Amino acid sequence: MNSTLTPMPLSSVHPTPDSPWGTYLMQVDRVVPYLGHLARWVETLKRPKRALIVDVPIELDDGRVAHFEGFRVQHNLSRGPGKGGVRFHPDVTLEEVMALAAWMSVKNAAVNLPYGGAKGGIRVDPALLSRKELERMTRRYTSEIGIIIGPHSDIPAPDVNTNPQIMAWMMDTYSMNTGTTATGVVTGKPIHLGGSLGRVKATGRGVFVTGREAARRIDLELTGARVAVQGFGNVGSAAAELFNQAGSKIVAAQDHTGTIYNDRGFDMADLTAHVKEHGGVGGFKGAEPMKDEEFWDVACDILIPAALEGQITAERARRTKAKLVLEGANGPTVPSADDILAERGILVVPDVICNAGGVTVSYFEWVQDFSSFFWTEDEINVRLDKIMIGALRRIWDTADRHRITLRTATFAVACERILTAREERGLYP
Ligand code: NAD
Repeated sequence: MNSTLTPMPLSSVHPTPDSPWGTYLMQVDRVVPYLGHLARWVETLKRPKRALIVDVPIELDDGRVAHFEGFRVQHNLSRGPGKGGVRFHPDVTLEEVMALAAWMSVKNAAVNLPYGGAKGGIRVDPALLSRKELERMTRRYTSEIGIIIGPHSDIPAPDVNTNPQIMAWMMDTYSMNTGTTATGVVTGKPIHLGGSLGRVKATGRGVFVTGREAARRIDLELTGARVAVQGFGNVGSAAAELFNQAGSKIVAAQDHTGTIYNDRGFDMADLTAHVKEHGGVGGFKGAEPMKDEEFWDVACDILIPAALEGQITAERARRTKAKLVLEGANGPTVPSADDILAERGILVVPDVICNAGGVTVSYFEWVQDFSSFFWTEDEINVRLDKIMIGALRRIWDTADRHRITLRTATFAVACERILTAREERGLYP
């Protein structure tokens, strides 16, 4: 091949080893030896299929006009329509959304959902907006990305700082623009708008179910196990609640409002009520405050990062006392930290399987919307547990067979599915 025809790195992003896209690229490189003849297609995974950057102008309540930068990235659509959440956060960048979209491709394939991977976001601190401003921003963003989303092309869902109300505005905006009632265009909607029972807690439930399986395999008893959770939002709080119900003690929690500790374990009902009233764990009376950095030194058996990317650095990986890390968040562990955790014999259940419960129930929601027939919460949970346990078993077998980490094994299972679809479809034209 002419050397000028070898793939050039993307010019749109400048990843570093610990940045989200840099982390993802390293994870892909590690799976190449296990892809066999499919390795010739691996470059497909290293670039998004489509990335849309949109301007989101809105009129503020005081009459000024504000502009926000919005993104929707479709990483890979070989196996089905794009699927992935929308994040409202001041640190959102194209690079971050690309990585989150790519992890969705891997995750959806790992649990064998008929989806590709996508993700969206707006670079904004939504806490600074009034409810009306938030609605206007959501609606304008939805209109702008309306050229690439749709029930059969790309289906958004909630992520950091987005929720069922925001999904309702997105569904309504898309429906108004297309003259339909398109319930299937987003998931994570309110129940009476075609939402699914069990969706709100599904990601946390998946973290718990995969965590319980992993704990069993390493002979870690859940009763009395000490759990530390970073991020007490949708994912972290639901996972913590289920571990608590299984007899574990939630001894430490951290979010953007502070870090708290109680050696005997929190009273979860009190903590949940406090977070509802005050917006975070900081100031909770049933615990001692702790310096943020000390969170990583806490004596615990299970560590659940459920906030943002890049939280488990090499240095924190050397310090943690946990035996088991359950990645509720997307991309919480940088590759150098991953290696240290593996060397220290600390088992990591990676994001791309651990937090797949949310998108699995989103899939159920989408299917229910098309059939206009809705399942009970028990039916949802039974199906969710079955899919998560089956997917984890297959990944574990792959890890044992090749003597690789669960992360590389999940990538191996998922990338094989994605690239097989790529190969079978063939390249157009
Ligand atoms: P959320 O907005 O409900 O909660 C986010 C939590 O992170 C909050 O408790 C917030 O205080 C905390 N946080 C933010 N910045 C922090 C910081 N600097 N330090 C410590 N804590 C901080 O969001 P969520 O839906 O629970 O998402 C959390 C993670 O889980 C994200 O990585 C997201 O991509 C991932 N995830 C979410 C879903 C889902 O269904 N919601 C599915 C899969 C993965």
